[in-house]
Amino acid sequence: MHRREVHPGRWAVLEFDPQRRFRCVEECTWCCHHGVMLYERDVFELADHDDLSAATEQIGGQSFVEREPKDRETHVAEDGCACRYLRDDGLCTLQLSGETDWKPVRCRVFPLAVERDGEVLRVSLREEAEDHCEGLDVGDPIDDHLADLLPAALWDLDDPDTHRELDL
Ligand code: SF4
Ligand code: SF4
Repeated sequence: MHRREVHPGRWAVLEFDPQRRFRCVEECTWCCHHGVMLYERDVFELADHDDLSAATEQIGGQSFVEREPKDRETHVAEDGCACRYLRDDGLCTLQLSGETDWKPVRCRVFPLAVERDGEVLRVSLREEAEDHCEGLDVGDPIDDHLADLLPAALWDLDDPDTHRELDL
């Protein structure tokens, strides 16, 4: 266990080796093939970028970025679909638009998993990331860029848990 003050007054307990390295590999795009759940604050921010009725879908009472069929063979899941913002070249339209590199919180957190434990967040590596994330063991130690991967907004959420059960 490794305790870190990720932002002033915001603590996390890391349940993995913080010397594991990570850097998103643009040509991978695996985590953009699947539905991205949106927190309420993401929905408000997304409204500045897109028409929410077209950009989101409701699953189990929670908002997700719409997946859509893509007319291409790369950067798609087995069903030929991916996040609506995933471009042909593997980059994220949302992140490239505007003056900031904003994207939904969950997109920023991957490949980490988050669980609230009182005021502290418990952070682990997602099991599926070990199998699919090409950026693991590439780049700098995760310890060196925790604040980028774990936005301060996570600590303000009532339920930031990554493995949230959907009420289907
Ligand atoms: S799975 Fe990992 S390397 Fe691939 S796009 Fe997502 S964060 Fe980047
Ligand atoms: S919003 Fe951008 S970063 Fe998030 S899943 Fe879609 S394409 Fe990927």
